Amino acid sequence: MDGVVALAGALSFWLVVLWLICGFFAGYVAYEKGRWGFWWFVMGLLFGPIALLAVVGLPDISSSMFQPSPKTHVTCPDCAEFVRNKAKVCPYCSCKLTPYTN
Ligand SMILES: [Zn+2]
Repeated sequence: MDGVVALAGALSFWLVVLWLICGFFAGYVAYEKGRWGFWWFVMGLLFGPIALLAVVGLPDISSSMFQPSPKTHVTCPDCAEFVRNKAKVCPYCSCKLTPYTN
């Protein structure tokens, strides 16, 4: 039985280590995505790999803020880059743009 107890002890030790790693990575991934890293660290400690999977599946706030969308950006007619729709001059090719008014 001692062997079983030792094995269970080793297993639970590695589970704790795994949970800590999951918490750390969940916090790190959340932080990289512009979210509250500490909260996700705690979630990772509570839910382990599930929290890690959840945070990996979350949309990235920090980059989505700069993601061009038809609401905020227009396509430059000269260089086809996304330019903010209120811009008067294209920052990429410095051609003149007509400010988009709606
Ligand atoms: Zn341009």
